[in-house]
Amino acid sequence: VAEQIFRARWIFPICQPPIERGWVMVRGHEVVAIGSSDSPPTGVAVEDLGDAAILPGLVNAHTHLEFSDLTEPVGFTGIKLHQWIELVLRRRKSRRRDPGSVIAQGLVEAAAGGARLVAEIATTPWAGFRKSSSTEAVVFAEVLGLSPRRADERIAAAEAHLAKAEVIGGVAGAISPHAPYSTSAETVRRCVDLAKRRNLIVAMHIAESSEERELIERGTGPFAAQLKEMGVYQASFFGRGETATSQFLEELARAPAALVIHGNDLQDREIEVIKRNPQMSVVYCPRTHAFFGYPAHPFDRMMAAGIRVALGTDSRASNPDLSIWNEVRWLLEHRPDVHWQNVLAMATMDGADALRRPDLGRIQAGCTSGLIAVSGHASRPDDLVAEWVSGGAPRILTSADGDGVGPASKLAASVDV
Ligand SMILES: [Zn+2]
Repeated sequence: VAEQIFRARWIFPICQPPIERGWVMVRGHEVVAIGSSDSPPTGVAVEDLGDAAILPGLVNAHTHLEFSDLTEPVGFTGIKLHQWIELVLRRRKSRRRDPGSVIAQGLVEAAAGGARLVAEIATTPWAGFRKSSSTEAVVFAEVLGLSPRRADERIAAAEAHLAKAEVIGGVAGAISPHAPYSTSAETVRRCVDLAKRRNLIVAMHIAESSEERELIERGTGPFAAQLKEMGVYQASFFGRGETATSQFLEELARAPAALVIHGNDLQDREIEVIKRNPQMSVVYCPRTHAFFGYPAHPFDRMMAAGIRVALGTDSRASNPDLSIWNEVRWLLEHRPDVHWQNVLAMATMDGADALRRPDLGRIQAGCTSGLIAVSGHASRPDDLVAEWVSGGAPRILTSADGDGVGPASKLAASVDV
């Protein structure tokens, strides 16, 4: 495999401060060397990107690709979570067009948004399985249901999913008990046991809304009413007092690695549980959070406490697109109080580490980052980052032999549909 050098006005390795007039040498997927001089190694093909910054490929730490054919979010801005779920379920029933091609379309879109690694929550059996591609995925089999029979079914389906994922390059299997309002504590325990046996990452939507808290702590509120109406409310599962959320978190803490999806409504004592367990990470989905109109997300407090926070797009059912770069741009614009270094780390290194891929999300020798480039003319990183807010999509850099980060279209061809 041929080596190639990319040069640019700026390199953002993420694991160290930006380098002005730097270069990165790659061989296929691998970063061979990174430098800061005007004299990179000779005898290697050089592509000079000029006024641009090179970054590692991004990490989209949470999405549901099965909704990728939606042209706009379901419902309206400020919709309550339980109302939104009802609309999504109704839509899911009425709309079952070729799920494999919808997932493929979503992967292509996520890749075009700069994602080198995508964490996908899959309804089993997952209809999209990639044979080979340079954008990789951690595919979580979703387990949900309040009845033991349903839990048995979904866990068996998750086991089948893991067996299938094992033989496919670029896909790692994982498991996701859905949420405290849809999945019993006993089922969550079984998922975590499976994760421990198989050394898997667990992801769970937790503390997404105050209505969830009301259900699991007191057994009341709109979620309780909705579950009763559906005939699936179980009094023994809900109204478990003010430690209910902490109990779910303590359960997830037994897994080899755990993603707390959203965590919008986490209270200090619950954040403490995550802080005590460095194998746990939080995934914040900025534009989805804004869509539901939740109170400010505590991600900045979490990061200050040393908790790893990754970024996700969530699905097109609550977000206008699947571009993780657009989440970065949104945060740079709407949260100027958060340093851009932290925003970029969330979209790269922190996501990679949360998904147990320390070879991704940073540019350093030996990494397999995949590279993206973003244009901008500013002469200081602070100004450059400000330029990105109004800029366009990142360019996905391909190495000379096409074996680096492939064009997004390559993905579509390699998805089993
Ligand atoms: Zn989700």
